[in-house]
Amino acid sequence: MLTDDELQRYSRQIGPGVLSRQGQERLRESSVLVTRAGGMGGPAALALTTAGVGRIVLAHGGRMITPDLNRQILGSEATVGEFRAPHFADYLRSMNRYVEVEPLDHEPDDDEALEIAARVDAVLSCPPTFDERLRLSRAAVDTSTPLIDAAQWGMMGTLIVVDPSRTACLRCVYPQEPPFEELFPVVGAISAAIGSLAALEAIKILSGCGEPIFGKMLMYDGFRGRASQIDLRRDPQCPVCGDAR
Ligand SMILES: [Zn+2]
Repeated sequence: MLTDDELQRYSRQIGPGVLSRQGQERLRESSVLVTRAGGMGGPAALALTTAGVGRIVLAHGGRMITPDLNRQILGSEATVGEFRAPHFADYLRSMNRYVEVEPLDHEPDDDEALEIAARVDAVLSCPPTFDERLRLSRAAVDTSTPLIDAAQWGMMGTLIVVDPSRTACLRCVYPQEPPFEELFPVVGAISAAIGSLAALEAIKILSGCGEPIFGKMLMYDGFRGRASQIDLRRDPQCPVCGDAR
């Protein structure tokens, strides 16, 4: 049961066209893995925290650096040089006392991704590397956990939402890995936009309210100001989610 204080806190998001009270309660009973907590994962984790998701596992290695400042909202100039995950977790806790935050000071490897995916209700994937995105997609498929994959380049962002029991996984969408670019360009406004939309998909999935865009890719070309959505086809031969695996 939600307390009176919680009902007051969430009063603007409970009602017609938003969440039901039961949906808000389901949100509080839910847990999410967010990795990583950068320009996309940071705003996503903040939106999940303020919305009242019960538990957030926040994975991000390393210390905050000056080039993070064009898009990082969980840290500040004062945080540069500090370890990201514990600091960001403290900030999130300060935003909502009802949310438990479990910081992880590194990116999960295959085994850890599987272990965490098995104990959360959704995986929100925001890494810059394709290796990590595929790892999280595999873990989501193997544990039947819904996946929201958020990605960005420049002023372009993409969102893929996967129901592992029936829709295309990331490997179906990208049979070949694109080459990795270490310091690719990115504008903070597109990171925050895509991260927030990723959080919204997670909120819909966890609360059971609204319509998640399972099986689709949403693309926003911010350079030209164009949004588009395409249906994704599951590949029966896919080595990750296909029929023969
Ligand atoms: Zn697949």
